[in-house]
Amino acid sequence: MEQDKPGCGAGCAVLTPEQVRVMREHGTERPGSSPLNDEKRAGLYRCAACGTPLFRSETKYESGSGWPSYFDALPGAVETTVDTSHGMVRVEVHCASCKGHLGHVFPDGPRPTGQRYCMNGVALDFVPDTQ
Ligand SMILES: [Zn+2]
Repeated sequence: MEQDKPGCGAGCAVLTPEQVRVMREHGTERPGSSPLNDEKRAGLYRCAACGTPLFRSETKYESGSGWPSYFDALPGAVETTVDTSHGMVRVEVHCASCKGHLGHVFPDGPRPTGQRYCMNGVALDFVPDTQ
């Protein structure tokens, strides 16, 4: 685990500049850059900023987009807003706990939800299930 900054409460992670750019400034990581694209193990995906569980490996699938993709989020874990930047209408996804930006959700995902949560890998922290 990373060392907490002085004055930073328990569970408050130190973010890298890239994580700050994505999660606080609504940036987008380069497609294909996240090691989580190839993560196939069973486990939990947590918010990189506050540690809240967001996604389970069972909902992760290969979308071919270059970003980690899920067809569902854990109940109540994420919130959405309509994002009209860059001349597009998209649904922005952020952590319900710390409001950190995670990515976008599109209505072209697989069954059973039909949703595609297109996430920035740097906004997620993968914790494999203990064997
Ligand atoms: Zn969070």
